[in-house]
Amino acid sequence: MIAVQEARSIIQQHVLQLGKETVKLNDAGNRVLAQDILATFPMPRFDNSAMDGFAVRAADTKDASRSNPRSLKMVSISSAGAPSNVKLRTGECAQCMTGATIPDGADTIIMVEDTSGFTDGDTIQIYLEAQLGKHIRRKGEEIQERDLLIPKGLVLTPGEIGTLATFGYGKLSVAKKPRIAIFGTGNELVEPGEELKPGQIYNSNLYVFAELAERSGADIIMRDVIQDERESLRTFLSEALNSCDVVVSSGGVSMGRFDYVRDVFMELGVREHFWKVAQKPGKPLFFGTGESTLIFGLPGNPVSSYIGFMEWVWPVLDIMMGKPDQKILTGILKAPFPRDKMKYRFLFGKSWMEDGKLVCKSSVKVGSHMLSSSLESNCILGCEPGDGLLEPGEEISIRLLPWKTIQ
Ligand code: AMP
Ligand code: MG
Repeated sequence: MIAVQEARSIIQQHVLQLGKETVKLNDAGNRVLAQDILATFPMPRFDNSAMDGFAVRAADTKDASRSNPRSLKMVSISSAGAPSNVKLRTGECAQCMTGATIPDGADTIIMVEDTSGFTDGDTIQIYLEAQLGKHIRRKGEEIQERDLLIPKGLVLTPGEIGTLATFGYGKLSVAKKPRIAIFGTGNELVEPGEELKPGQIYNSNLYVFAELAERSGADIIMRDVIQDERESLRTFLSEALNSCDVVVSSGGVSMGRFDYVRDVFMELGVREHFWKVAQKPGKPLFFGTGESTLIFGLPGNPVSSYIGFMEWVWPVLDIMMGKPDQKILTGILKAPFPRDKMKYRFLFGKSWMEDGKLVCKSSVKVGSHMLSSSLESNCILGCEPGDGLLEPGEEISIRLLPWKTIQ
């Protein structure tokens, strides 16, 4: 049995970043950027109007007010996408809509509300003395050409996707998705929707794995429930080793009489790096490598499988895609935490802000078979081995579940 820290460093030695691929912008959401994104032009790209109104020469509006309007000659219209090519001279103005190019000769925009309005007539009354340069968005005021907009490694969310579109990126380079095979083992497992016979249970782990794999950004290539029987395991696993970057199993790696998963991994030439980690839940964790595949055998108890995926598999998928490490937070316990004397202790928990501090407590359901401990949880709490309970007021590590929020 090895310590959690040692197990983590062994795994790190075997994880490689995957390559990249080009995708269309439409397909880039949630993918991990594999290139730095630079501004292809300044933003705004040209001086344009921030308001619907009139482009004027500010000097022509001196002392203008509602009781003392200035008359200007309307000579042109500049609308978004259709710039005017007229150059304004003294005493002239042009209709100029939001986003439209500022006509040559104009130096200020007057909002339409401060004028006699958009009409077809050619004389416009201006009711306000213009402040030179007002309501003009200047070329380059937001971003300079070649500015770094989005660094590689970032997950693309609406803001990034919008920025890519703004700068004309129709295609871009993203990290390849790790190809993953997930499987559950057990003669007792029945699919949800079917009927249970005595002694049977529904397979839940594979549904949790599938959900996690998808949320992590991996591509599920193979997914199956396999009987506790060597031949079927061998068939599934040999194909998985050939076609996937990561293989994750649930169940069948403990000391049970029908726990064949580890044996079959070994028969197929998988190199074992460790089996059994000083952690609770999930002690009989198996980690091995094939030619170009990482293999995780997680014990089948639902909490061991779920927490095991988050603690061991998820960070590996992140590295493969070039994502930065997920930050482990520190919170202050609001209730005693059942620390283990010999093992690193993980439990689902809840964290929230109180008086400006991050506080937390673990689920009171501590059994590794109690998947309902994940309900209402937004994090996994983790604590080094030690004597006695970890008391309220003491600090503990928090891995936030990335799709949950802190309330
Ligand atoms: P094992 O690691 O195979 O000894 O399984 C440990 C416990 O987890 C047993 O109670 C199994 O019935 C249960 N278990 C194994 N696989 C699953 C699964 N896919 N879904 C729900 N429970 C499971
Ligand atoms: Mg089993």
